[in-house]
Amino acid sequence: MPDPAPPASNFRIDGKRLWDTLMDIAQIGATPKGGVRRLTLTEVDRRGRDRFRIWCEAAGLTVRIDSMGNMFARRPGRDPARLPVLMGSHLDSQPSGGKFDGALGVIAGLEVMRSLNDLGIVTEAPIELVNWTDEEGSRFGHSLMGSGVWAGVYPQPEMEALKDPDGVTVGAALDSIGYRGPEPARPFPADAYFELHIEQGPILEREAKTIGIVTGAQAQVWYDAVVTGRDSHAGTTPPSARKDALVGAARIIDLVDRMMRARGEDGRGTVGQLFVSPNSRNVIPGEVRFSVEFRHPDEAEIDRLDAQFPREAGFIARDTGVSLELTRLFRIPAQPFDPACVDLVRQAAARLGYPAREIVSGAGHDAVYVARHVPTAMIFTPCLDGLSHNEAESIEPHEAEAGGQVLLEAVLARANRVGG
Ligand SMILES: [Zn+2]
Repeated sequence: MPDPAPPASNFRIDGKRLWDTLMDIAQIGATPKGGVRRLTLTEVDRRGRDRFRIWCEAAGLTVRIDSMGNMFARRPGRDPARLPVLMGSHLDSQPSGGKFDGALGVIAGLEVMRSLNDLGIVTEAPIELVNWTDEEGSRFGHSLMGSGVWAGVYPQPEMEALKDPDGVTVGAALDSIGYRGPEPARPFPADAYFELHIEQGPILEREAKTIGIVTGAQAQVWYDAVVTGRDSHAGTTPPSARKDALVGAARIIDLVDRMMRARGEDGRGTVGQLFVSPNSRNVIPGEVRFSVEFRHPDEAEIDRLDAQFPREAGFIARDTGVSLELTRLFRIPAQPFDPACVDLVRQAAARLGYPAREIVSGAGHDAVYVARHVPTAMIFTPCLDGLSHNEAESIEPHEAEAGGQVLLEAVLARANRVGG
């Protein structure tokens, strides 16, 4: 049963302070085009972490760091026996990233802490603000690393051995910036986790919604495909003698797109990589390798795609006179978020009068792994043109404020819930 809606509060975060702090952290690793380059576990990341830590300590929070560099800043509650309510996101960025991907969730969490202080509010449960290490995966080639190790999805020794292009390991990088903490990186009992993030897609902006009530993350299935035909001379080989691997691949790519579109706006199907061999303009391609991925919020739909795609792609290969080798790389289950936590986000948006809609996360987030151990929900805010992982990534101050305000209300309601 979801908690009954608490009465509308007059508690407000300080939107200007939130925005100023976002602009302040964006100076660390600022790029000339207005973006951010704050690659995980670099000197720039260390400066961002140090600044964040100083802000947390100035707000009276106690900061602890685990052995993957994940940072937890705790504000005590009235009842020390209650499990903490967590909120957070990540401060690392893509190589040419924007100011808000990740930073919004962490800095809005800081603003929630500062506002609770200003308002003199003592919550029943403690509240902890988290900065997860290496969400982006752009330096060591492995995304969601800090939360993934914490959640037990990835083995820590394997992650620590990963190297960046200069041969520096994750372990060495943690040591060199001084952020390998004494706490073990593993789940501890927590009451809930809330993550505010920009949508990184166009849906909220297109529908003029201020808040996305994220109900979960979609299921995925990924394949590698190899189509084999026969290399032959482009000028001398008549149609009856051709085994064109690229024509076979092109028809399969069209199949991926048709299967996606048959599922309406919830469908996702992508071929993002294509390697043509011998890749010469006067040779009929003998081999084509490509990637295929499907995503959908509904697990059963992924089951159907996973049954239908290999079969129909096989028919296409046969009709085209080529052979198809399909390897299923992995399948990621859908991760529904906790209904009671999602409901707190829904109620907060409604109380505050923000236009809102339910949405399924199309991207991976730390929250998806945290959700395996802790009741979790996410809040999305719109971003300009749905653009992210780009220096031009942009949001409006009032959008950041709305997200922060919903975060405050959801966290407060959870931390003060009866029987928590
Ligand atoms: Zn992010």
